[in-house]
Amino acid sequence: MIIQQEAIVLRCIDYGDSSQIFTLFTQDYGKIGVMAKGLKRNKNPYQGGMQVLNHIKILYYQKKEGLLSLFKECDIQNHFPSLRKDLLRVFTALYFVEFIREFTIENDPNARVFRLLRHSLDQLASGALPQNILLYLQWHSMCLLGINPNIEYCNHCQKRMALLCKDAFFSPKEGVAYCEECKKYSKGELVIIQGVTLQKIHIIVNSHNARINQIFLMPQEYHTLFHSFRLYLRFAFDKELRLNRYLLFS
Ligand SMILES: [Zn+2]
Repeated sequence: MIIQQEAIVLRCIDYGDSSQIFTLFTQDYGKIGVMAKGLKRNKNPYQGGMQVLNHIKILYYQKKEGLLSLFKECDIQNHFPSLRKDLLRVFTALYFVEFIREFTIENDPNARVFRLLRHSLDQLASGALPQNILLYLQWHSMCLLGINPNIEYCNHCQKRMALLCKDAFFSPKEGVAYCEECKKYSKGELVIIQGVTLQKIHIIVNSHNARINQIFLMPQEYHTLFHSFRLYLRFAFDKELRLNRYLLFS
């Protein structure tokens, strides 16, 4: 069956002398693998389209379950040229595609994950603060995949720490937070997220478009949030993203 899809290119691996295998996140079919035979041969017109980070429209032959689809042709929708001029933005965008690639499973349709990734790349290319848009993508991906940690409520007494501007004691092992009084009920190492930082992340993840750039995280605040989610994901998936170490923004 031949399929047309919008997709974001997540990964490209060489195969043999002239072919390549791509991992794509498609609008209607989720993460898929596509074999492009002969793509590396000279003058193949689709080489420029099939680059990691590109938003494309692709035609491919869908094979039986368990087999790679076969590339037919593609059109570039957006290759985010302004994003590619800035190394920090490139690393942030590569982190987005690594995050989606590693924490989603193949052939599991999720159009909202596709839109989130496309929206985050658009925002990053149009000048959004990289730290904020990274936390936005992380948080909403975790929500859409049903694995978001709880940092707003105390897991024991249900107090809303962000609303009260109280420090939260986050347990990456449990994926939940505790208030000062209840932290004795927690398990494992705790990361302290200050009340003011909780309020900022609350606004960032609930903001759309322009407002997300009006929140300024101090480097230490960003580190605490990034570190908390990193430890949490490590416990939840036993997995460390390669790009984690490049994204401390210091
Ligand atoms: Zn409590």
